[in-house]
Amino acid sequence: MRDRQALGRVLVVAVSIGVASALHYLTSPSLILWHELFQRLYYLPIIYAAIFFGWRGGLIASGFAALCYIPHIFMMWQHHMPEYAMNQYAEIIVFVLVGTVTGILADRRRRQRMELEATSQQLAKVNRDLQDSFEQIRRADRLSAIGQLSASLAHEIRNPLASIDGAANLLESPQTPEETRRGAFAVIHKEIRRLNRLLTNLLDFARPRQPEFQMVDPARLIDSIITLAGHSAEHKGITIRKDVSDSAPPFECDPEQMKQVILNLAINAVQAMASSGEIVVSARPGNASVVIAVRDQGSGIDEENIERIFNPFFTTKDAGTGLGLSVVHQIVTQHGGTVKVDRNSDRGMTFSVIVPLRHGRQN
Ligand code: ADP
Repeated sequence: MRDRQALGRVLVVAVSIGVASALHYLTSPSLILWHELFQRLYYLPIIYAAIFFGWRGGLIASGFAALCYIPHIFMMWQHHMPEYAMNQYAEIIVFVLVGTVTGILADRRRRQRMELEATSQQLAKVNRDLQDSFEQIRRADRLSAIGQLSASLAHEIRNPLASIDGAANLLESPQTPEETRRGAFAVIHKEIRRLNRLLTNLLDFARPRQPEFQMVDPARLIDSIITLAGHSAEHKGITIRKDVSDSAPPFECDPEQMKQVILNLAINAVQAMASSGEIVVSARPGNASVVIAVRDQGSGIDEENIERIFNPFFTTKDAGTGLGLSVVHQIVTQHGGTVKVDRNSDRGMTFSVIVPLRHGRQN
């Protein structure tokens, strides 16, 4: 293929020089202007040859042009216009110079292009190697995350199992007093509920469902949270107050999932408060987003724990699963949003969920 292309180019050069020469030979010497024009026509094949075949091509083409042209000068101009003939010979030297210099420049450009191509191939290879390494690191990361998750999960399950085992041992013994037996049953029920909660949260976390988006009014969302969490709050003398700005716009979300998010935050807020107080659940407009915040007056989070609260199974509670905030983070991320944690200036924490108003159009 390449050879045929090169042969085609050689033919173009040879035929062009042949045509320019024929025009010289066939045109009457009285039409000197035409001869001047035909003489310059030689530059086209010479430059063409130099560009495609380098300095050797330029030299051979200009040599060939000279070979064709010199007899014409000699026959037509040498005798009756010797000065003009000298001019033409000088022009032949320029042919050779133009052919060689253009060829040298073309060679240099070709070498640069080849170097660039080699560099870009090397870069592409480095890029591929890097991608492979990243992939390996990601795989190793995933494996280690699965390992950590399994270890934490085993720990979370072993604790209630140990309690159930202890309670069962007590029940087995006929000497166990009736009151202790009732206590043992209560422990078994409590631990079974804990395991059940753990599994429900784990499934939410491990197999998140794709959100089904619809327009939701933040005020109504907050109302339903207050209804759901109000009972356990009242129990501790805590009031949950709604604070929705008039300009808080409806936004696109999966209502069930978003309810789960705010409810988890509200329940955490209730659990963080040892005694009576107020929890404020607010909604206000953000930047092409809505900001729903849960502010409590609880114990707050220690500095060393704040980085860890979104880690699966991280909990400071006796009966906690440590999956609530992981689920919150996962759902909010699926909605294209973010979760922010701030320490209140007086006491307690504020968890803010920032969700884009329209799914797929983030601020
Ligand atoms: P769990 O509630 O089962 O412990 P979470 O993932 O919901 O799991 O919370 C992880 C931890 O984050 C909690 O154990 C608690 O230490 C801390 N936390 C979460 N919310 C609050 C809050 N509002 N105030 C203080 N600590 C909190």
